[in-house]
Amino acid sequence: MTNRKILVVGNWKMNLDTSQASLLVHRLEERIKTHRSVEVVLAPSLLTLQPLSLQIDRRKFRLSAQDAYFKDEGPYTGEVSFSMIRELVHYCIIGHSARRVYFGESLETVRDKVQAAVRNGITPILCIGETKEERNLGETKQVIHDQLTTALSNLTSEDIQNVVIAYEPIWAISTFDGEVAKPDDMAKAIKYIRFQIKELYGEQTSKDVRVLYGGSVDDHDARAYLALEGCDGVLVGAASLNYHQFPAIVDSAYQLLNERPKND
Ligand code: PEP
Repeated sequence: MTNRKILVVGNWKMNLDTSQASLLVHRLEERIKTHRSVEVVLAPSLLTLQPLSLQIDRRKFRLSAQDAYFKDEGPYTGEVSFSMIRELVHYCIIGHSARRVYFGESLETVRDKVQAAVRNGITPILCIGETKEERNLGETKQVIHDQLTTALSNLTSEDIQNVVIAYEPIWAISTFDGEVAKPDDMAKAIKYIRFQIKELYGEQTSKDVRVLYGGSVDDHDARAYLALEGCDGVLVGAASLNYHQFPAIVDSAYQLLNERPKND
């Protein structure tokens, strides 16, 4: 677990037009060093993916889409397919709480998008997590179970080894309640996610799958989440738009890796 790369993903949500996005990349490039053990992924709006794919230093950054449609082509006005973005991105965020809450994405739609991403050679960053109400009702494990099992149900265990799962409790996301999540509670949820993967797809897959934490992560608390057992990185929203905070979060990842014993 410890010799794995740490993944730091910045979800820019629906912010920044083309020139603002380009400027932010420029500023991040000045501040973020290349590091083999930390993978930095930027998820700008769909509109800016193409120009940014030409601009980014690929030794420093990879690109992710924030969403795409599961059909490859057809009369789906307004949508963009995974096959259309496959040359531009390594990753695609799927099932983000904004999609589930504002756009009513069902468990089955998320499943079809995960399958479409894999079919097109794009690594899904599958977001799962419970609402505040579900948490208060003690339904966190059930929600994780249902979201995971449905989303992954059309994949083989080999496919799943490449999936990234982001545990993002909705109550902790800045757009919603933005409550501070206790790292110990997050460690338990991450453990439960790996346990579920083990039950469904076996021990090796549960070890190989990458699990991130996301929910109001900033430069002050990133380290506490990155240090959690079984946590492979963070998905950062609001703080990823800030060219001081996001590089500082990436720095926390470097520091943590440097402090770890090499074969631990
Ligand atoms: C997100 O949008 O995935 C997210 C975690 O947002 P924030 O960090 O702003 O809570």
